[in-house]
Amino acid sequence: MELTQLDINKIRQEFPTLGEKVHGKDIVYFDNAATSQKPQSVIDRINHYYEHENSNVHRGVHFLSQTATNAYEHTRKLIQSMINAKHEHEVIYTKGTTEGINLVAHSFGEKFIHEGDEIIISYMEHHSNIVPWQLLAERKKAILKVIPVNDKGELLMEEYHKLLSPKTKLVSIVHTSNSLGTINPVKEIIEAARKQGAAILIDGAQVVPHQSIDVQELEPDFLVFSGHKMFAPTGVGVLYGKEELLNQMPPYMGGGDMIDTVSFEKTTFNDLPHKFEAGTPNIAGVIGLGAGVEFINRIGYDYISNREKELLDYGTERFNEIKGMRIIGTAEKKASVISFLLDDIHPYDAGTILDQLGIAVRTGHHCTQPLMKRFEIPGTIRASFAFYNTKEEIDKLVDGLQRVKSMFGKK
Ligand code: PLP
Repeated sequence: MELTQLDINKIRQEFPTLGEKVHGKDIVYFDNAATSQKPQSVIDRINHYYEHENSNVHRGVHFLSQTATNAYEHTRKLIQSMINAKHEHEVIYTKGTTEGINLVAHSFGEKFIHEGDEIIISYMEHHSNIVPWQLLAERKKAILKVIPVNDKGELLMEEYHKLLSPKTKLVSIVHTSNSLGTINPVKEIIEAARKQGAAILIDGAQVVPHQSIDVQELEPDFLVFSGHKMFAPTGVGVLYGKEELLNQMPPYMGGGDMIDTVSFEKTTFNDLPHKFEAGTPNIAGVIGLGAGVEFINRIGYDYISNREKELLDYGTERFNEIKGMRIIGTAEKKASVISFLLDDIHPYDAGTILDQLGIAVRTGHHCTQPLMKRFEIPGTIRASFAFYNTKEEIDKLVDGLQRVKSMFGKK
């Protein structure tokens, strides 16, 4: 779909929050890697569910329950088609990326990780792709190995290949770094792990909102992502897993919906995907997630990624005009995230001043403390662009950064 500048203004109007004023100024929202804004279609869909369809799923023969179940399951089909999963039941609903990783760490870990086994992650993982593996390694006396990164924030692939061995049972890697924007060579990572017989989890939190992912082409064993970063509500996400593996994994949580029969002697479990969806789920969230996917389908990944690339290039060029600018994360392949430091100004101070100008950026370690340690910095200022951002907004941020500098007496 060809969209003009005029169209982007129209699309922006679909996002109520983008019309907000902050401290009397038009909001400039550059914290999209933390969470995206929501279009009216998603908000309306959630309202519609509560106003007209509210009911529990899978349990009722009555009209409302069936309507809610149909809408809830419709999202699964939309996700299946979006990531090109072979089977609908390979799509498991979760609370988000974090829960997806914890589910795999518990369930896959319980069954397949034993003493002395090795799990590989990288230096640029979000805490949610570090801590569950540390906990698992402690429980099972397994060993956690970490792929280092170079000064540009790229994985040292030769080191990765050296870390791999027949002892490697799982490789869990972020597709796109939330704090540096680095896009990792996941195809190569997956193929090399596969040769060693290891399973692979891809943390897709920062890629699925921006770029199309085909799990049959890429062939990870697991892919996890969050709804709230892709125009959908918080509290809902997806774990994709290969049927063969999911079938071998024990349940993560016990409760309603995940059982086949329950008796005090022996309980049997439901089929996929329900085996991993215990209890009343986030029905409104899942239905809202479906509306988020429909929104992405309407705009198109091509348009989204082309626009974001344009914003990244423009932002990088403009940022580099600022004296004292140090961009952290200069990988060859990058998503629309610019993390930076400005002279010796503390990120928190810069963020607070920018907020007064109506500009929302994130400051701090971005849940990647080991990576910050690697760069010997306390944190960064991070501007993360979504397709609905504009070059004019980037100009406002650049002006804002000049203002920050002058307030700190920097030339
Ligand atoms: N992984 C990455 C790369 C992320 O950026 C995030 C969130 O910022 C997460 C995992 C955790 O996602 P959530 O908090 O939605 O579970």
